[in-house]
Amino acid sequence: MFTDEYYMKMALQEAEIALEKDEVPIGCVIVSNNRIIARAHNLTETLNDVTAHAEMQAITSAAHFLGGKYLINCTLYVTLEPCVMCSGALSWSQISKVVIGARDEQRGFINKNLSLHPKTEIVSGVMENECSTIVKEFFKSKR
Ligand SMILES: [Zn+2]
Repeated sequence: MFTDEYYMKMALQEAEIALEKDEVPIGCVIVSNNRIIARAHNLTETLNDVTAHAEMQAITSAAHFLGGKYLINCTLYVTLEPCVMCSGALSWSQISKVVIGARDEQRGFINKNLSLHPKTEIVSGVMENECSTIVKEFFKSKR
């Protein structure tokens, strides 16, 4: 049950909540000991805040839950590759693992030659089609 696909589905559910709010549909969850300790979706329009990316909110909420700023033994599941801002925050958090759904060639951190914390394991391409389709369809509907 506790597979990468299982948690990515939970992240996708968050993306769907964002979609219902007419936000760019990106969602994430943070998992510790097989338990979801934070879930968030993009809220930049709702909050009028360019920093309200799903990952930023989830990092804050997971740290509150754990009572410490470092997300040791935690895994982030995010539907779209984190941007430069979020990769910076993830790096500061020293999170153990980041699982990415779809790549973001333009705005993602990987093509910018940035890396996360040296201890952070990165996995990419989990439920890639579902994760990229929801964002592509959103932008198509905006044209
Ligand atoms: Zn971001």
